Amino acid sequence: MPNTVDTAHIQSLDSAHFLHPFTDFKDLNARGAKVITKAEGIYIWDSEGNRLLDAMSGLWCVSVGYGRKELADAAHQQMMALPYYNSFFQTTNVPAATLAAKLASLAPKVDGRSFEHVFYSSSGSESNDSNVRMVRRYWDLLGQPQRKVIISRHNGYHGSTMAAASLSGMSYMHAQGDLPIPNITHIEQPYFFENARSGETSDEFGLRAAGWLEAKILEVGPDKVAAFIGEPVQGAGGVIIPPATYWPEIQRIVDKYGILLISDEVICAFGRLGHWFAYEKFGYKPDLVTFAKGVTSGYIPLGGVLVGDRVAKVLIEQGGEFNHGYTYSGHPVACAVALANLQIMESENLPERVRTDLGPYLASKYAALNEHPLVAHAESCGFVAGLVLVKDKRTGERFDPDLSVGMLCRKHCFANGLVMRAVGDRMIIAPPLVMTHAQIDEMVALILLCLDLTWQELKTAGYVQ
Ligand SMILES: *Cc1c(COP(=O)(O)O)cnc(C)c1O
Repeated sequence: MPNTVDTAHIQSLDSAHFLHPFTDFKDLNARGAKVITKAEGIYIWDSEGNRLLDAMSGLWCVSVGYGRKELADAAHQQMMALPYYNSFFQTTNVPAATLAAKLASLAPKVDGRSFEHVFYSSSGSESNDSNVRMVRRYWDLLGQPQRKVIISRHNGYHGSTMAAASLSGMSYMHAQGDLPIPNITHIEQPYFFENARSGETSDEFGLRAAGWLEAKILEVGPDKVAAFIGEPVQGAGGVIIPPATYWPEIQRIVDKYGILLISDEVICAFGRLGHWFAYEKFGYKPDLVTFAKGVTSGYIPLGGVLVGDRVAKVLIEQGGEFNHGYTYSGHPVACAVALANLQIMESENLPERVRTDLGPYLASKYAALNEHPLVAHAESCGFVAGLVLVKDKRTGERFDPDLSVGMLCRKHCFANGLVMRAVGDRMIIAPPLVMTHAQIDEMVALILLCLDLTWQELKTAGYVQ
């Protein structure tokens, strides 16, 4: 590929003017950002011509892979026909209405509960802000305005706006903004490797972890709790896959106290776990489902909330005006791209392929990583996977966090043509759903190579034996 980009020039503009999200500005300016210039299929290229296999699908979103002409065409056609119009004042547009109906048809019904309605935003964060607004409105309309508290989990991720960051359970985010806002509280996450007692089985741990929700409800007062929110599998927290017993027990508890259940499927929906929506996989019945990322495969921003019958009925029939929404709610171009994206997912059968073929294939390859001297607890769920880098495999002893062993490993990944993400000492992936078996092999071989290089570096420095 001819190198037409002046890397140093772009890096200097970047350092001088672009404040990056979740970034130590000074540190980045000292190194200079990697300039990504093009992408095709499952690969991205930087301005120096280096190719990287993108095992993170961008940021969990490019599910159908890069370079899909159908999506560019859908955006182009819609921009020429109607690039924008609002839906505030009793108008709608063709893609927004069509997509809402499509999403309603894709969302599986559980026990007769269905999702017939959609509230649109442009991101996961905004969608979760909308959830907070909707949940409180719901209880107000039912004459229970004291039900305000939303329970979330430590190390969950729900976005970065004031309300979404409050729902998120990252203490380093809360520390920088007087967060959480009032009436949001957290319980511990179902992270077996970190939180299970010695000798406890995964199933036992799952029940105990769900029990923390009941304990919190009783502590807050059951009549004050509005909702519980959780990701089916925690993504940004490090691909934390809950035990099989966890979600059914959560369902039992929210039912017992009548509180709403919000499934934040910004990562997990649209085939990532082998289903259109992940609540189906884990067997629970949410009232609200947050989506974003994969709905457009990241080609254009779009997010929203699937609103289940229980909430929709009250908002519609008893509601009056809902004083909330965004300029870009139901953006015609974003919705047109989403429709084209879902069309690709349907015609290529991506959710089913992840469930029956690609997911199991990845799982078998990933389990083999457990043989590596640096690795504990390598596991996958659909097309997300994680592993822990450990100092002593036998005892499970972890590395000193100051060593930033995850970042060390990530450095080797970047240098060897692989994008893998580090979350503390966990290494995680969420590859595009369009991989072949050969590409999965290629990816796992790269992961092994980078684990070896990390191991050698740690050994040379005397951190492992
Ligand atoms: C990424 C993410 C969000 C936030 O989405 P943005 O589009 O970045 O605002 C919310 N929830 C989950 C589970 C996410 O992974």
